[in-house]
Amino acid sequence: MTSALGRSSAAAASTASAAGKAATTPLMRQYLRVKQDHPDAFLFFRLGDFYELFFDDAVKVAQLLGLTLTSRNKTDPTPIPMCGIPWHQRDTYAARLLRLGHRIAICDQLEEPTPGKPLVDRGVTEILTPGSVTADTFLEAGANNYLVALWPAADRLGVCIADASTGEVRLAEPSWEDATGLVSRLRVSEWLTPAGPAEEPRLEAVLRGLPGARTVVPRSRFLEAQDPRPRWDAAAVAALEGLDAGITAAGAAIDYLDRMQGGRALQLTRIERWSEDETLRYDASTARHLELFQPQPGGEARHTLWHLLDRCVTALGSRRLRAWIERPLVQRVPLGARHDAVAAWVSATSARAALRDALGGVPDLERLAARLACARATPRDLGALRDALAAIPGIRATLERLEGESMRRAHDRLEGLPALHARLTAALVDEPPPIARDGGIIRGGFDTTRDQLFDLAHSGKRWIAELEATERARTGIASLKVGYNRVFGYYLEVTRTHLDKVPPEWERRQTLTTAERFVTPALKLKEGEVLSAEDRLKARELELFVSIRDEAAAEVAALQRLGLALGTLDAEATLAEVATQFGWTRPEMNDSGELVLEGSRHPVVERLLPGGEFVPNAVHLDSASRQILLLTGPNMGGKSTYLRQIAIAVLLAQSGSFVPAARARIGVVDRLFTRVGAADRLGSGQSTFMVEMSETADIMRSATPRSLVVLDEVGRGTATYDGLAIAWAVTEYLHAAAGPRPRTVFATHYHELTQLADTLQRLVNVHVLVQETGDQVVFLHRIADGAADRSYGIHVAQLAGLPRGVLDRAREVLAELERERTVEHFEAGGYVAQPAANAPSVVREAAVAGTSQLGLFGADHPLKEELRKLDPDTLTPLQALQLLAAWKERFAE
Ligand code: ATP
Repeated sequence: MTSALGRSSAAAASTASAAGKAATTPLMRQYLRVKQDHPDAFLFFRLGDFYELFFDDAVKVAQLLGLTLTSRNKTDPTPIPMCGIPWHQRDTYAARLLRLGHRIAICDQLEEPTPGKPLVDRGVTEILTPGSVTADTFLEAGANNYLVALWPAADRLGVCIADASTGEVRLAEPSWEDATGLVSRLRVSEWLTPAGPAEEPRLEAVLRGLPGARTVVPRSRFLEAQDPRPRWDAAAVAALEGLDAGITAAGAAIDYLDRMQGGRALQLTRIERWSEDETLRYDASTARHLELFQPQPGGEARHTLWHLLDRCVTALGSRRLRAWIERPLVQRVPLGARHDAVAAWVSATSARAALRDALGGVPDLERLAARLACARATPRDLGALRDALAAIPGIRATLERLEGESMRRAHDRLEGLPALHARLTAALVDEPPPIARDGGIIRGGFDTTRDQLFDLAHSGKRWIAELEATERARTGIASLKVGYNRVFGYYLEVTRTHLDKVPPEWERRQTLTTAERFVTPALKLKEGEVLSAEDRLKARELELFVSIRDEAAAEVAALQRLGLALGTLDAEATLAEVATQFGWTRPEMNDSGELVLEGSRHPVVERLLPGGEFVPNAVHLDSASRQILLLTGPNMGGKSTYLRQIAIAVLLAQSGSFVPAARARIGVVDRLFTRVGAADRLGSGQSTFMVEMSETADIMRSATPRSLVVLDEVGRGTATYDGLAIAWAVTEYLHAAAGPRPRTVFATHYHELTQLADTLQRLVNVHVLVQETGDQVVFLHRIADGAADRSYGIHVAQLAGLPRGVLDRAREVLAELERERTVEHFEAGGYVAQPAANAPSVVREAAVAGTSQLGLFGADHPLKEELRKLDPDTLTPLQALQLLAAWKERFAE
């Protein structure tokens, strides 16, 4: 979904022309005036109790949301398409449109309708866009809502990642090679990019296929935006040194968010520099291959690592943990600190339970702080803030009781804001309402004026309530009732049977079928007092609320720090919870080229299989002696699972988590590459093989000796021998002294590759064990050193239920292929140039096989013998045709 701001859109033009004749009424002229300024947004136009949409907006929204499309001025020759949404359901519908990547402009009535004035004043009061909204109704609790602004520079990409809902801003300036990896890993709600020049194909290449709404603004919005640095503190700004393109992107992002929030995007106070060198880099396709956050197409959410991990008790914790997985660490000191903290929570079982209990009631402080900053916090928000602050002393006390540096640091990070807490406690009722204008917010005793008004309103109400009893006694009307409605105010209601007892000074106001309603001058007087005291009470409460909200807003930065500290605690304790529950261990991290896991498991597959069925395996990689593990074995043997579990163990370890293994020793990994299947990028218009090759090319270009490469078959998407040759060359390249030499696990069905172990010193064959009984196989899922001898593909086909005839024929063809390969080896010398004698045997085999063909007939087929004897050079064309016809008659009929 792309929208172009500041340019007149074709849609708007068509709306205007369609509207030309129809919009003769003042109301529609008013609508078109407003719509003109918001051509790229759906305009929600308030009319009484509804938000109405007109013209193209109505047609599209009706279709998107399944609303009934009607029309205004139905009798006109050109009726105006229209659909409506009840005003109180505005956010529900808006949220759905935002999720679909659309923008919405809310046009409200700016004044109360007045008799005699035919048209109320209307104007846009809010613009909602997927990446700029801050209200909880539009947001997912445990995830960030990112607006990402991109500014292309000559050799780098300026990236600003802003979350208006939490106040976080991150700046980065990756090289163009790193840019795709960085941005594709984020879940972005809205992209902000400069218009043209059209010759910026690199930017388009980075964005290709990525989800998220796209907002294009004139370049001047980037170039002329205010310098954002003054809003951040000096120390944070110092760390931004040298980030020119990043700062330009940030200027545009903040300018945009300011506009969307009516100049109040004050919450964006937390700035952080992201450097790709400080993170374990992996791209979106690796995240998908490993099913970190999203299942593979057709899979279920419970198949993801995130589903297993996210046991956080607060949204703050979920976001923190997610950020850790999205950007794992590569520096050992901060990583060690995270492992220390998790280890401390693992051993402090009861303190962990107490912490999680205390955190349970903590609201999303980061988002609450953002709402405070833009003056959108409600009384209920302030109540939640008060309750969150109340939990801090207890959490601090828990931390104080625990030993260790990590606990001391966590304790120091928890600033409890006692003054604000005391103020909120004194000011607010126990359960403040969700909206401010109806009062009921302020606790008695906090403000004298408010208390006086409260007494006035309530004593009047009491007087009215007592009136029922006194008038009943005075008149003898036992069923007399005092009531209230919005039209007549307070009244005395008398049933028909008692009408004769009504005193003469009562004035009749309303007649019902069974009763009559009256007022008295004293009642009217009291009513006036009550209503005016109530109005003044509400006004006073609103005034007090706003001033307390402003006091709280002055603490936005401290609240955001507190939110971060609580989120960190929650994430750490959650990792400890997961580690304890699933028996994970603390990895030993070092700077070596090792990757050693004992008793390693795939955390998700292990959970999905019945208890105890998952077979743990060892992993032993070492850049010095076991740099490449070449994994062969049957289909269904567990190769992919093994590859994925190694990658996941590294990713978890470097995110600060314990790992699903009995023991783990990991030399820190700088980049993680996976090549597993290719279905996910097919949407981008490339073929399976092309996707596979470009992923492989990316690995060859970017891997380093500290990287981990996990390859699940390379070259499968093309002709067998081309594929084998490519896989062969890729393996040699990854191993070569002058190459990148990353730690690599390579699963393959090309058994020929196992011969590489003879020539490549640091390549080790490993295989999946199988137990064979007769023609039955049992997959043991155990990995051992050495090469597999067969692939058992036909056994798996049999398990999958291929028809017996097909299986028999497959066995026949397989036998033929295997025999032919040997025969042709010997016969080849006569008609194919012999490859160099020192070439590996399989290459020779491939070169020869390039001219050979799959035998179509069984080994003893008579036609084969005839063909063998035949010398085509001695045949005339006619003889050849006759022979062909004879064969057809004999063999093909
Ligand atoms: P293919 O070559 O056909 O892609 P594969 O060798 O990659 O197959 P996997 O997809 O990893 O096989 O595993 C197949 C199934 O075997 C998994 O769905 C899982 O249920 C089971 N499995 C894999 N590893 C193990 C294990 N270590 N212990 C128990 N079961 C396992």
